[in-house]
Amino acid sequence: MSDTHPHPTTTDAGIPVESDRVSLTVGPQGPVLLRDHYLIEQMAQFNRERVPERQPHAKGGGAFGRFEVTHDVSEYTKAAVFQPGTRTDTLARFSTVAGERGTPDTWRDPRGFALKFYTTEGNYDMVGNDTPIFFIKDPLKFQHFIRSQKRRADTNLRDNDMQWDFWTLTPESAHMVTWLMGDRGIPRTWRHMDGFTSHTYMWVNAAGERFYVKYHFKTDQGIEFFTQAEADAMAGKDPDFHTRDLYDAIKRGDNPSWSLKVQIMPYAEAESYRFNPFDMTKVWPHADYPLIDVGKLTLDRNPTDYHSEIEQAAFEPSNMVPGIGPSPDKMLQGRMFSYPDAHRARIGTNYNQLPVNAPLSPVHSYSKDGNMRFIKASDPVYAPNTKGGPQAPETYGEAAGWYSEGEMVRSGYAEHAEDSDWGQAGTLVREVLDDAARQRLVGNIAGHLLNGVSEPVLERAFDYWHNVDQDLGNKVEKAVREGQQA
Ligand code: NDP
Repeated sequence: MSDTHPHPTTTDAGIPVESDRVSLTVGPQGPVLLRDHYLIEQMAQFNRERVPERQPHAKGGGAFGRFEVTHDVSEYTKAAVFQPGTRTDTLARFSTVAGERGTPDTWRDPRGFALKFYTTEGNYDMVGNDTPIFFIKDPLKFQHFIRSQKRRADTNLRDNDMQWDFWTLTPESAHMVTWLMGDRGIPRTWRHMDGFTSHTYMWVNAAGERFYVKYHFKTDQGIEFFTQAEADAMAGKDPDFHTRDLYDAIKRGDNPSWSLKVQIMPYAEAESYRFNPFDMTKVWPHADYPLIDVGKLTLDRNPTDYHSEIEQAAFEPSNMVPGIGPSPDKMLQGRMFSYPDAHRARIGTNYNQLPVNAPLSPVHSYSKDGNMRFIKASDPVYAPNTKGGPQAPETYGEAAGWYSEGEMVRSGYAEHAEDSDWGQAGTLVREVLDDAARQRLVGNIAGHLLNGVSEPVLERAFDYWHNVDQDLGNKVEKAVREGQQA
């Protein structure tokens, strides 16, 4: 062996192979022989290299780092990961939503912002986006929403007409679509965007007091975005621009960081708040619930094997540690089922045993067997038992989480004074954006509508924007009509 090649090649069973270049043949011209096991193993393994891509959030990248608590929030949560001075190893993955593996990083789309904290009390996953809100508020709509953003059955093409058909028939999308069409709909890099839980969660302190909470990971690099024209040019020049940017930044030691802040709503205030605080299409205004400092997330280590460390990384909103629980948010309940189910489908039953998904804290679970299991189960294999197996504390009733009662309903939406779907979208347009940002918003919406949206969807889209803001609606309609004549 030489310095440049310190190891001999082996089969996957560790047996030295005779050649990296030449297969075993009858005579120098062939045919090749079935008994060339190494050739067969290489071909067979290659055919099985891909696992199904994520549906959605297929295109993404990530890195490892740490989360450090800088402020004391122990009055709100007993979670070990958020106690003063605690430092926790963390994995982050960023992604587009609608794209497939290989589609350009700079398409207009929300970005996934998923974190796995390897805490002393098991893995805690925060599976959010770069937006504090989402398009829909009921999990029954999610499948349909994603299908409308992906590809048609007949042409296999994405289709703006299908997207606007869904959006305009789903007014709860207005706040998110306004955000998406605005400047922050295309972050310049993953380092220059914020991350949010989007959902409301519950925190519980050591005394058992409950609070509702929303997380905001504010970028320390500052917000930067691409205009539509810049993003379109970059999509052609470097479709992997965001993936490359994160990797290169960490490689040169320019480690990106985010400051975690939370909004806290006392448990009892939720019922009488002026809108449903668990509605995922709404933010809690800062004036009502100001940001409270918690800590800092820093990414400082690139993966060395994308497939085993990022592609097979399995984030799930259901991974919550003691001191953190779900809120009644319907979307969250849906995701708590669908994410682990997706991992079982894409990766396999024992996905939590893969090193990137395995907790650093001990596992004492009664799960056993299944595909590709390699950590040994031990007796007793059932509970309850008198044989020394793991035992849960049997916590029931209100102590186990939020309290809920009522009849089974499929509920409409307007149950609080300010549950309107248009209100916060209008506030964003009128009170947050400046004139130049509003102008870019009109241009982005009109450009999208002019790209294949037909009547009567187009007419509904004008109504939609008139509902968000009369003046914005007028400008969008004018820009589209002028664009049609050009
Ligand atoms: P504030 O008036 O206190 O602050 C405005 C918020 O809007 C800031 O968080 C700001 O982020 C963000 N923002 C600025 N430009 C854009 C943009 N182009 N796209 C999206 N967000 C932007 O907000 P309020 O709490 O009173 O809410 C008013 C509106 O602000 C909401 O309807 C919502 O659309 C938007 N918003 C609210 C957030 C919340 O959690 N309350 C979070 C983000 C947006 P930054 O400070 O980084 O500039």
